[in-house]
Amino acid sequence: MAFETREEVLDKVLAMKKPICPHCGEPMSLWEVPPLAIGDGLGWGTPYLFICFNDTCQLYTQGWDHMKETYAHTASYRCMNYPGTEQFELIPVFSSMGAKGQIIDEEARAIEEAKKEAIKRGFSILAECYVKKDGPAVLRILLDPTEEMRVRTKAAEMLGDIGEIDAIEPLRNLKVGNQILETKLQEAVGKIHARNYTRECPFCAEIIKKRAKICKHCGKETAGL
Ligand SMILES: [Zn+2]
Ligand SMILES: [Zn+2]
Repeated sequence: MAFETREEVLDKVLAMKKPICPHCGEPMSLWEVPPLAIGDGLGWGTPYLFICFNDTCQLYTQGWDHMKETYAHTASYRCMNYPGTEQFELIPVFSSMGAKGQIIDEEARAIEEAKKEAIKRGFSILAECYVKKDGPAVLRILLDPTEEMRVRTKAAEMLGDIGEIDAIEPLRNLKVGNQILETKLQEAVGKIHARNYTRECPFCAEIIKKRAKICKHCGKETAGL
């Protein structure tokens, strides 16, 4: 049998149709076996199992009484299934939360994947723009609130290198509420000014030459400021 990584196994079991609990008829949840359980006495020989976490499942609700009467333990059991088989067994649990921490939330995983994809795509578009020195395209990505924060942060960094003076105003007006991006925006404005020997008039905020003694916009003296 070919060796499979945990990820490969996960992809395979995620693609499987969820088995139906034979005790309650509800679909079972995919469950990640805690690492410590593998290989010890409890070892199930598989990193993932399907478990019925339905709290009204008969097997589970009646299990409490049965365990108390038979073993004087406060425990019950849930139904478990080996992925890809018709084999259903019982797994002991000691509270209603027992084992729930390992339920794999497929939605959360899908969101995580989509996010990674979006970052990858964003980075590759940015790389192209950077090579072409397409500052306006980079600026559009930076201003797009639907882009991932990491992509926008990278866009801000790039604008410092390739952005033109007309990028400064939108950079200054952008409110993002993210400390890292905020800092990158400041840095980008600083770099654009440095490349163009410009700065902003401390009185009217218009862009002026770095060495201007009088602001050409508001007429105030800016020498030494
Ligand atoms: Zn059930
Ligand atoms: Zn001025």
